[in-house]
Amino acid sequence: MRQTNLLVTTLREAPAEAETRSHQLLLRAGYIRQVAAGVYTYLPLGRRVLRRMEQIVRQEMESAGAQEVLMPSMQPAELWRESERYEVYGKELMKLRDRHDREFVLGPTHEEVVTALMRAEISSYRRLPVAVYQIQTKFRDERRPRSGLLRGREFLMKDAYSFDTDWEGLDLAYQVMYSTYERIFDRCGLKYRAVQANAGAIGGKGQNHEFMALSEIGEDTIAVCSLCGYAANLEQAEVRGGSVPHRQDFAGLPVPEQFHTPAQKTIQQLEQESQLRPQDIIKTLIYTGGGKTFAVLVRGDHEVNELKVQKYLGCGDITLADVEQVQETAGVGSGYVGPAGLSVPILVDAAVAAMTEAVTGAGEEDYHLRGVVPGRDFPLTQVGDFRNAVAGDSCPQCGEGELDFQQGIEVGHVFKLGTVYSEKLGADYLDADGRTRPMVMGCYGIGISRLLAAVAEQNNDDQGLIWPQGLAPYAVHILLMSVKDTAQRELAEALYARLTALGIDTLLDDRDERAGVKFKDAGLIGIPVALVVGKLAAEQRIEYMDRRTGNKEVINVGEAVLRVS
Ligand code: ATP
Ligand code: MG
Ligand code: MG
Ligand code: MG
Repeated sequence: MRQTNLLVTTLREAPAEAETRSHQLLLRAGYIRQVAAGVYTYLPLGRRVLRRMEQIVRQEMESAGAQEVLMPSMQPAELWRESERYEVYGKELMKLRDRHDREFVLGPTHEEVVTALMRAEISSYRRLPVAVYQIQTKFRDERRPRSGLLRGREFLMKDAYSFDTDWEGLDLAYQVMYSTYERIFDRCGLKYRAVQANAGAIGGKGQNHEFMALSEIGEDTIAVCSLCGYAANLEQAEVRGGSVPHRQDFAGLPVPEQFHTPAQKTIQQLEQESQLRPQDIIKTLIYTGGGKTFAVLVRGDHEVNELKVQKYLGCGDITLADVEQVQETAGVGSGYVGPAGLSVPILVDAAVAAMTEAVTGAGEEDYHLRGVVPGRDFPLTQVGDFRNAVAGDSCPQCGEGELDFQQGIEVGHVFKLGTVYSEKLGADYLDADGRTRPMVMGCYGIGISRLLAAVAEQNNDDQGLIWPQGLAPYAVHILLMSVKDTAQRELAEALYARLTALGIDTLLDDRDERAGVKFKDAGLIGIPVALVVGKLAAEQRIEYMDRRTGNKEVINVGEAVLRVS
């Protein structure tokens, strides 16, 4: 490609709203342009990087035995009602109506569509296992789109779904996907870590892992053991609109005396009294509304798929109607108490209720815990689960290592769904004995556009982007210093023709610009190798520049061709 023909404009300054390095540089180097908040156009350079990532993902998914499909963005609301997610998914779900007033959603994910597909296509165990994947645009009306491609409202995801006859099959499919993800991220040159995670809005049995690109600007905090390799996301206490800070944020804050009532329960006590095993509790949420306060212990048990109302604490009668009322007024279900309905609401005592009501903006959707300072406004766990861990705490797994914290960007997520969706949507098969059984599912996502930004976030310097080999939009950047110099022009053209003939993706900067401008743009765009055709052209010598190390070396053209091919 000749740069004179390439649709790229580099910018001296990034727009003020771009705060992260990747966002700034992707804009400045002409990879992306914003169309609306969280909605972007990929210019040719950006599209090429996406393609490279897609290619890696496709190769690895195919070799893991998954088959590519393409499912629609436009999904009938009916399917989402069947899975019971139409209401509970919350405001992130983009809804629309057609001319006949039929309701649709713009898919934020495809469990519903793919489960309905398999329900129709597969009836016998003989056709299982099967796994499909797609690379497709997703829509989520994120509350705060941020950092460019890192949190978009329209974004590119690879999502895969596995269907097995039993849990053993799922375990195997999960392992295969897990190691496939490792290969994909390795090939992208990403610094990452796989961590234990919680269930989020997807629902299903707890076991799931997130792949975290390590980065200071990551929104997730992960705890990592110094010894045994244990790593987990601290997201546990996440609520819509923000996360409850973990202990380090409120350590030392005294619990005000008015909250020292005998009936008062700490979250830890609630968790103990719930008789759930701690490892089954994937998060605890506090909701207020309708004059009542609930602590909702969300459990990751795939077998319980109805909302269960239980009076664990005996501190008030609590009916399903109460729960529904609170859910309505407090907006529970705005994304976290998911389709699996894996929640156990518990009425906490009146003092806590009154206190939290006073400070939380009770009843206002999306504001359950706004302004609340855990520890000051309601009591907290003293020790124990890693949600409240601080650096230096001992590891919950081995007990010997110390926990350290890192920030991460969630670039991938693998998840054992089990039978949550197949039961709700009736995706059954007949086993060898003729019995009807629900298919056992897993789902596996990679945010491809987010991955692009995460790689950019990890690979840049004060000049600009530095793409890892294999992801760069072009492998080689020829910088023709003076278009008016015949020897230089001829050598650059010959080199360009030769590399192109060898199948090497080459960008030729053939613009009539000053050398300084060309170097600056090349630094910004970040192609791994630049071949500078300048004053030594008459001697068939050029400068070989390594973008990452900054090394420069004058070599013969023939040698340069060898090095890049
Ligand atoms: P997050 O916790 O960041 O909101 P998520 O857990 O909601 O992500 P999943 O439902 O697990 O996301 O989706 C699979 C993958 O899609 C994520 O691991 C992430 O890489 C990507 N992804 C999710 N939301 C976005 C978004 N708004 N913009 C870009 N990529 C996203
Ligand atoms: Mg999300
Ligand atoms: Mg997440
Ligand atoms: Mg996730």
